[in-house]
Amino acid sequence: MELYTIYEKMGLSRQVYDRGEAVLAGLEARFRAIDQTAEYNQAKVLHAMQKNRIGANHFAATTGYGYDDDGRERLEKVYADVFHTEAALVRPQITCGTHALAAALSANLLPGDELLSPVGLPYDTLQEVIGLRPSPCSLAEYGVTYRQVDLTPAGGFDYDAIRAAINGKTKLITIQRSKGYATRPSFSVQQIGELIAFCKSVKPDVVCMVDNCYGEFVATIEPSDLGADMVVGSLIKNPGGGLAPIGGYICGTQACVNRCAYRLSAPGLGQEVGANLGILPAFYQGFFLAPTVVAGALKGAVFAASMCEGLGFRCVPASGEPRCDIIQAVELGSEGAMCAFCEGIQAAAPVDSFAAPVPGDMPGYDSQVIMAAGAFVQGSSIELSADGPIRPPYAVYFQGGLTWQHAKLGVLLAVQKLVDRGLAAL
Ligand SMILES: *Cc1c(COP(=O)(O)O)cnc(C)c1O
Repeated sequence: MELYTIYEKMGLSRQVYDRGEAVLAGLEARFRAIDQTAEYNQAKVLHAMQKNRIGANHFAATTGYGYDDDGRERLEKVYADVFHTEAALVRPQITCGTHALAAALSANLLPGDELLSPVGLPYDTLQEVIGLRPSPCSLAEYGVTYRQVDLTPAGGFDYDAIRAAINGKTKLITIQRSKGYATRPSFSVQQIGELIAFCKSVKPDVVCMVDNCYGEFVATIEPSDLGADMVVGSLIKNPGGGLAPIGGYICGTQACVNRCAYRLSAPGLGQEVGANLGILPAFYQGFFLAPTVVAGALKGAVFAASMCEGLGFRCVPASGEPRCDIIQAVELGSEGAMCAFCEGIQAAAPVDSFAAPVPGDMPGYDSQVIMAAGAFVQGSSIELSADGPIRPPYAVYFQGGLTWQHAKLGVLLAVQKLVDRGLAAL
């Protein structure tokens, strides 16, 4: 039976389907390169699991204090080997990416220290962590000051201003790899490596942390390969491979990770406590699947950009540009178009496909946010999802897809909704 017959039942018109096939014909070389990166990263994960002699016994659940949890300790060794760091903290007790970043910052910054972001305003939820928007328990409340250097108008690093901003108090430099909810470019691992080298040339003992959210496995190296003292991210994004139902990670130097563990549990306890509660099979298997899941998501992002540019929408990155993360921003120009796009993504979902996303308030965000996701793990954005704050330029951030085929259908149905509402023409 022809593929289109089933797509037709899902609301896809022949015209949008045909446009999709035409666009895809031009993407073969891109997709081949994505598969090659996935193969390299798959080998990297497999090698780390084999080197650490992972056996079925390491999947056992522990409860209570979780002392001597060999499965948990080996998972952290696997992460450390893949990220080429001395140590790693990978825990279900880290509830999300923001929590991992907050733990890493508050563990490594003391009263009187200064935090510097040389890449502009950090991700929305971190603004309360830092205290840019006042919040109880923010770094500002504990006497940690903050300085920021914005990107140049062209989206590059303002090296002169960064040199001038680094001072005697500068203790930690935070570098966000992914654009987040901004239409600035995301940074390649090479660019981040150059920035770290520059910062360390100005102040050799400064701690460089990378918010690695959405970047893992997009390239064959990670920021920790190029000098980052800590890389931090969420397990309900790339490294969880869609299977981890919760969690975050911090990989880095032993000294930094020790402090993070003391902050997360308690001084003196550190990494020694933290029962795994039976979650390790999902963490191991998700990490094993992550390179191919990320590849599917990348194909979806490239396809989305190619389709949306064809409709006249500005995309960041542009369809032909290299990818530094799995996020595709599409500037749709109006709230109505954001809603239409998100409804299409929702309609393609395996779960909650019958629901209609509407803008609403979200903790940690200062504008209303619309979110489309019909995910197995609630809020998971390695699963096919689209979201964005309702504010100019009305950009929707499209990401994820546990399989390329699902991401493709999501893009096609999003375009269908835009076309049906007269918000775009083929
Ligand atoms: C998602 C994200 C975070 C926060 O992660 P959560 O798991 O949503 O708390 C932080 N930084 C960036 C760049 C992100 O994309």
